[in-house]
Amino acid sequence: MIASVLPTYSRAPLTFVSGAGSWLVEEDGRRFLDLGAGIAVNALGHAHPALVAALAEQANALWHVSNLYNIPAQQKLADALVEQTFADTVFFTNSGTEACELAVKMARKYWHDKGAPDRTEIITFSGSFHGRSSAGIAAAGSEKMTKGFGPLLPGFTHLEFGDHDALRAAVSDKIAAIMVEPIQGEGGIRPLPDACLKGLRDLCDQHGILMILDEVQCGMGRTGKLFAHEWAGVTPDIMMVAKGIGGGFPLGAVLATENAASGMTAGTHGSTYGGNPLACAVGGKVMDIIGDDAFLAEVNRKAALMRQKLEGLVAAHPDVFEAVRGTGLMMGLKCKATNTDVVAAGYGQGVLTVPAADNVVRLLPALTITDEEIATAVDLLDAAASQVKGADA
Ligand SMILES: *Cc1c(COP(=O)(O)O)cnc(C)c1O
Repeated sequence: MIASVLPTYSRAPLTFVSGAGSWLVEEDGRRFLDLGAGIAVNALGHAHPALVAALAEQANALWHVSNLYNIPAQQKLADALVEQTFADTVFFTNSGTEACELAVKMARKYWHDKGAPDRTEIITFSGSFHGRSSAGIAAAGSEKMTKGFGPLLPGFTHLEFGDHDALRAAVSDKIAAIMVEPIQGEGGIRPLPDACLKGLRDLCDQHGILMILDEVQCGMGRTGKLFAHEWAGVTPDIMMVAKGIGGGFPLGAVLATENAASGMTAGTHGSTYGGNPLACAVGGKVMDIIGDDAFLAEVNRKAALMRQKLEGLVAAHPDVFEAVRGTGLMMGLKCKATNTDVVAAGYGQGVLTVPAADNVVRLLPALTITDEEIATAVDLLDAAASQVKGADA
């Protein structure tokens, strides 16, 4: 008999009942140090007092009004995002994959309105992840996500990650946009080198192609900048955001320049819940905290500390780990042993990590993790690694 919850997830046998900061409490009372943070969602940890207060205050005043009316919390968050980024305008969604939907629609509408309605093709890369909607799976294009779900949304050109020749060969007057994650998350914490992101920007500029960055996982302070592309000194035309921006409340956004968004006039797009007062009250507070230079400086300091300790961990377990990779507090341990064995051993030691493709264990702690917790985290990972049978064993 099918489970009452559609069985699309393989779940660990853990049931968390409460959380505070970087810690979660299981129903049997065990405490777990959370280095997954809901897959980069709980950017400020669990039950951050300022977020709880913002949510409670909004909940007492007004939960929901339609986008038929003004929503002050939405306006405030949009203003803050415009103020602190490349963007001139913002549309709010409830998730990352809805942001992907709009990014695709926006790029196509742009060219339609410019008198090039055939310019619909979007270049994407192997190993990418853009969510599970029809556009999201078609964009990523992996067999794992698309098999059995055809016919797929047409209009995506899939290139091998890092194949510069294929990229140059694919450019034509049919290409509307290039969509890329500055650091692939699900793909295994694979950073696009700064020089490549710059190169992509140049290519886009030469051919008038729109650059869409998917910062759903790597954005919102995760890498030590508000958005990851800032490290490369380039800006996109359109950017997808979600995960960390809601701090645990479902919220996403598409940020765009005035030019890229020029086709999106009244009636061309909408969402019932997107930008809802509860989500934006929380998102506004998240932005207040993460958008602060002193906060981001702390993220960078802690990231350097954690990186150094993780290099020591890898050196201590050469049969289990191969390397540390990533930027800021978006880190991956490339494994020699099986990544899911390392994650499972972590459960036994009271530490939560997240597997990713390319045999990587992802570490995406709350950006508020303390120095002491970083030390504890690496001790727990060390104990977990000692339980894992290495590749050579
Ligand atoms: C998680 C993720 C998405 C999809 O977000 P959902 O909220 O699950 O729809 C899209 N892109 C990237 C890079 C992600 O990490």
